[in-house]
Amino acid sequence: MTEHDSHEPMIALDVGGTAMKGAVLQSDGRVREYRRWATPRADGPEAVVNAVMTAIDDLITQAPDARSVGLVVPGLVDDQAGVAIYSENIGWRDVPFREMLMNRTGISVGFGHDVRAGGLAERVLGAAQGANDVLFMPIGTGISGAMYVEGRSIDNKFAGEIGHIDAGTGEICACGATGCLETIATGPSIARRYNALTDSSVTGAKPVVERMLAGDGTATRVWEEAVEAIAHVLVQYVTLLSPELIVIGGGLSAAGDHLLEPLSASLHRRLVWQEQPRIVPAALGDNAACLGAGILARQALSDPAVRLGL
Ligand SMILES: [Zn+2]
Repeated sequence: MTEHDSHEPMIALDVGGTAMKGAVLQSDGRVREYRRWATPRADGPEAVVNAVMTAIDDLITQAPDARSVGLVVPGLVDDQAGVAIYSENIGWRDVPFREMLMNRTGISVGFGHDVRAGGLAERVLGAAQGANDVLFMPIGTGISGAMYVEGRSIDNKFAGEIGHIDAGTGEICACGATGCLETIATGPSIARRYNALTDSSVTGAKPVVERMLAGDGTATRVWEEAVEAIAHVLVQYVTLLSPELIVIGGGLSAAGDHLLEPLSASLHRRLVWQEQPRIVPAALGDNAACLGAGILARQALSDPAVRLGL
């Protein structure tokens, strides 16, 4: 391992379906500068790949002395190979991002999955510090999990798809299976279910929560069914892997205690002999995956395997 100047900054980029969040981070992990771009998803996958490269160029212009870059992307991701295998949201297939970025920038590259990177950031900097058995579960337009078991991250590219566990809804999921948690507990599915029962046209979970708080019985029912479905699936996770801590992130966590209190109560009621995990909100919010990309960038500097090819 080559010694590097500890004051050199790192570059981080989190590519999402609607926005790309970039940062220049100091070597101690503090953010020197944030940048945000729209993801040109409507222009096709090639345009998004080009936008990622342009964003990295822009960040390097801000920090020409950067020695490493971290990139995280959604979908099916092979962290080890450095390849974005597939994203239904963006439409790309088999993009060898690590190699492309190494060739383009000539500096070390950390690469990974956005939710796993978010979990890494929560564990290193956020709500899961000091916990070894953790589920980090963002609930937004989708639901997935970053899993730590006995202190180790489960990086299998097919693992963590907790949103596609059968919650017994009987509805067909976008993935092709029936009954998945995502058919009842994501922001869009909560809105869809509420709209179908009330002839409304709300978008996302927020207006449903607001109507529940205003005394709307249908909103209360739709919300409670979503919470119960999440608890139903979490019982299975807890029974298999016994996390000490469950960190809830994503857009739905903005509901705060309206989500966490009934969810904790339902989970604790359902668990009979299992250890009761603590359920807490994510600490890093929207920036978790970008900060996780920064941690991957720092790890890339000290990981000889990632330095090969430099
Ligand atoms: Zn599914």
